[in-house]
Amino acid sequence: MASRSQRSSQERHARSSAVRHVADKPLLRGSLVVMRRKCGKSGCHCQQGEKHSSLYLAVRAKNKRTMIYIPSALEQTAREWIGNGRRVDELLDFVSQQCLAQLLDQKQQAVGRSREASVRRKRRRKGRAP
Ligand SMILES: [Zn+2]
Repeated sequence: MASRSQRSSQERHARSSAVRHVADKPLLRGSLVVMRRKCGKSGCHCQQGEKHSSLYLAVRAKNKRTMIYIPSALEQTAREWIGNGRRVDELLDFVSQQCLAQLLDQKQQAVGRSREASVRRKRRRKGRAP
């Protein structure tokens, strides 16, 4: 595990920003979807041309994908919370990429060490052979 000081400033910034977002801000994982429909009232404009549009939040709730109607008074709030959720995801993705690179470095070192060790063992065995 790399110590704090070995982390790049970018990684440190991403980590603390993610922590701040999670600690201070409401966030949602989901997306907003506009659905257009006809209402069924005879003579309504939606029968001819322009349909009614409503905003829905597509979100996972209790492990199921669901659509929740969002009234226009809450559109801005929903957009903000979704934006915060996306930001946290991006930040965690970045940290994950950094950690993956670290793990691959450590793997290379570990594999390198075990190869060196096995080469040494083989040399020793050859040396001992009659
Ligand atoms: Zn209508």
